[in-house]
Amino acid sequence: MLYESTRGQFKKILSAEAIKLGISPDGGLFVPCEIPMISINRLKEMTNQDYQARAAVILKEYLTDYSEEEIDECVSLSYNQEKFDSPAIAPVRQLDDSLYILELWHGPTCAFKDMALQILPHLLTKAAVKTGDISTIVILVATSGDTGKAALEGFKDVPRTRIIVFYPEQGVSAMQQLQMITQEGNNVDVVAVRGNFDDAQNGVKDIFGNTGFNQDLHRKNYRLSSANSINWGRLVPQVAYYFSAYLDLVAKGNVTLGEKINFVVPTGNFGNILSAYYALEMGLPISRLICASNANNVLTDFIRTGVYNRKRQFRKTISPSMDILISSNLERLLYHLNGRDHTKTSEWMASLKDSEKYHVDELTFARIDRLFWSGFANDSETIETIRSIFQKYSYVIDTHTGVGINVYKKYLKATGDKTKTIIASTASPFKFNTSVVQAVLGDDAVQNKNEFELLEMLSVLSGNEIPFGLKDLDKKTILHRRTVSKNNMRDEVNNILQSAN
Ligand SMILES: *Cc1c(COP(=O)(O)O)cnc(C)c1O
Repeated sequence: MLYESTRGQFKKILSAEAIKLGISPDGGLFVPCEIPMISINRLKEMTNQDYQARAAVILKEYLTDYSEEEIDECVSLSYNQEKFDSPAIAPVRQLDDSLYILELWHGPTCAFKDMALQILPHLLTKAAVKTGDISTIVILVATSGDTGKAALEGFKDVPRTRIIVFYPEQGVSAMQQLQMITQEGNNVDVVAVRGNFDDAQNGVKDIFGNTGFNQDLHRKNYRLSSANSINWGRLVPQVAYYFSAYLDLVAKGNVTLGEKINFVVPTGNFGNILSAYYALEMGLPISRLICASNANNVLTDFIRTGVYNRKRQFRKTISPSMDILISSNLERLLYHLNGRDHTKTSEWMASLKDSEKYHVDELTFARIDRLFWSGFANDSETIETIRSIFQKYSYVIDTHTGVGINVYKKYLKATGDKTKTIIASTASPFKFNTSVVQAVLGDDAVQNKNEFELLEMLSVLSGNEIPFGLKDLDKKTILHRRTVSKNNMRDEVNNILQSAN
């Protein structure tokens, strides 16, 4: 299978090359030239498989230039019980007859990013070998909190790679920051940026787009690549868990094979929900994809009107991993839904850059409207939802999942649609402990409590153990103290690579 750029100014390439490059040199994103189908018969065969086998099926459909053995090896190195604290890897939990939670946070960093970032380093190092590349791959990451840590864990000490993570200085939770600045490994660097996530992401995009800088690096035997969800290697492993979740419901008799269900996805950069879209196009019986945003509701407005307008105030919320105003992966969806028209796609993206907004055409909008529904939840609604879910089901959810369930309730109210629905639960409640304890027990409960006392309280509340990755963070040494302005990110990359030599 070949991959093409959404901007149409780069040649078609194999998946290993697309994963190695991360972003297309013409500024676009790589998408598969055709979307493979999984028939109902194959779904039936997959029903009794475990997570690993299902993931391998999906990966093999897209990464056709990898051998079956290579894929199997990547899968078993990633989705195992050393890395994940649930044998099911991504278990589905039933709340009531029509509401299910897909727990995507059983990996080492307690957020759904692990689902892709555990396997991406293996896909990437194999890609380098396959394409005869001998340079050191330098992974640049802009993170709103969870990607950074998950990428650091995935890439630490992986031979012939270096990883540099940029995070917004004031834009991540205390736990997220501690997780990153204590990161060990001989090939890792973590840098705080004075700005918000969009600043960090734009800085990284500019570095990728700087031809002179890239040529210079190449002469020094470095090649930049991305672990952000602009990399195809991030999206394809995520397609697998939508299949697996559906098949779990079939296996348990909760739905009959072929019966359509809905998915609700707490959304930021549009990577997770885009993977659900690919699953839908591949034939997974999905009725609707519900896009849940927090107060940064640019996607809610877009899905309702067809106008993407980022000219609005950036808001810091209790679901920081979704505090984003430029959802990069939307570009891929637009390309698929506008009839693979790279001219239109390029125009819209140029308009976003120049005038901070764009307006899609009628036909594209009609297609979006048919597949998606959108809503948003502000912080107080999210807190209220976390509390009511705990009271009703004794089940503790994190703030991002809280946004998802709140928007699902709004969807039910607006449509009355009784279709069975799975909420993608994107983070462990332990990762956002302060907000979660506050939501369940009230403001007084968190007064004068430190992060680690809050973890203990949450453990009692939820009846679950504190996840390994969060437990002893206060005893770890702070290893990363670099801070840069948003205009100095490229220089910082230079400094880091120079001092590595
Ligand atoms: C990254 C993240 C999101 C947003 O996912 P996208 O793929 O960027 O839309 C939602 N919740 C959590 C906990 C995350 O880490």
